[in-house]
Amino acid sequence: MRSEPTIKNRLNNSSLPLSKETSNGKDIKYSNAEDSVKNPLPDAGGIAVNCGNTDSQTYISIVIPVYNEEESLLHLYESLSAVLEKLGKTYEVILIDDGSKDNSYAVLVEIHNKNKNFKIIRFRRNFGQTQAMRAGFDNAKGQVVITLDADLQNDPADIPAILEKMNEGYDIVSGWRKNRRDRLFSRRMPSVIANRLISRLFNVHIHDYGCTLKAYKRDILDNVELYGEMHRYIPAVASWMGVKIAEMPVNHHARKYGKAKYGISRTVRVILDIITIKFLLTYSKKPMQIFGLIGVIATLVGLGLTLWLIIERIFFEASLANRPLFILSIFILLGGIQFITMGLLGEIMMRTYHEGTGKPTYVIKDFIKD
Ligand code: UDP
Ligand code: MG
Repeated sequence: MRSEPTIKNRLNNSSLPLSKETSNGKDIKYSNAEDSVKNPLPDAGGIAVNCGNTDSQTYISIVIPVYNEEESLLHLYESLSAVLEKLGKTYEVILIDDGSKDNSYAVLVEIHNKNKNFKIIRFRRNFGQTQAMRAGFDNAKGQVVITLDADLQNDPADIPAILEKMNEGYDIVSGWRKNRRDRLFSRRMPSVIANRLISRLFNVHIHDYGCTLKAYKRDILDNVELYGEMHRYIPAVASWMGVKIAEMPVNHHARKYGKAKYGISRTVRVILDIITIKFLLTYSKKPMQIFGLIGVIATLVGLGLTLWLIIERIFFEASLANRPLFILSIFILLGGIQFITMGLLGEIMMRTYHEGTGKPTYVIKDFIKD
């Protein structure tokens, strides 16, 4: 279903209006011919980033969440627009004001007035970096979407190299802050541990999940839902559909203006998110097989123990009152039944989720029909 617009586009390259489907099912219509030229829709084989001489048509969307960054924004604008103009590709920059309490929005409007490629979305309140990114993705028209922090810690000068890497045929290129300029104990150490853990759990080996500077092909984002603090793990979340991921070292600067929005407390949230993602990726399509298996084993063990105790009681006149095993076996038995029931409920919910929302359980890359 997702690949339909791409194939339609290939067969009928110049037809208008074009539309593409976003992850939440909204149809974005490109209203005029100019838009469709700026934004040639993806080829059937994914997104045509690498198209030889026509590469200058690659349309890039930069997505930047902004929360109380008034001092950084003009500097960001200067360096980013210099890099993007030099690239000579069509681009848009979507800045999402995530309910800033300082002067950020006024500065953003000023930037938009200077350069209309810089588009501004303003949230009613602070929804968090992940939701800000989601809003950016939902409205981005580019074939390649690049995310960046607004605080000048990422360096726009890395963008050309990242795009080049993308052209080698990757779906995601992830920045790696090799020389990270953040506090050691509250930020860098937990991050090293978390990255190792995530890499191992998801079998997606990246050193630096937390680096915002990442580039994605459009269709990857269309198939990824973002909740909680999950924008960091898009590579892991996207791994279920089979993606090619590259990592490359990028610059990282210390924060010059404003304050970091997160502290050590984020570690706990990261752990909770990892558990959720692991569960959703690995077990959500087959809850009965996971819960059910534990349930059946526990039920059998519980039954066996209980039976043994009953036999002892009846035929050997052993007393039950002073045996903790009696209580334990009943707990195991009940736990087992609970797990089986949970598996069944999980199955029902999983089916309702996929059938009710029309969410596919698979993702097609190519479909050669005729
Ligand atoms: N940010 C946001 N909403 C929030 C918190 C942060 O949009 O609720 C933005 C912030 O303005 C910055 C980026 O997310 O552009 C990363 O935030 P920060 O620099 O504080 O995080 P760190 O670099 O320390 O991971
Ligand atoms: Mg930062």
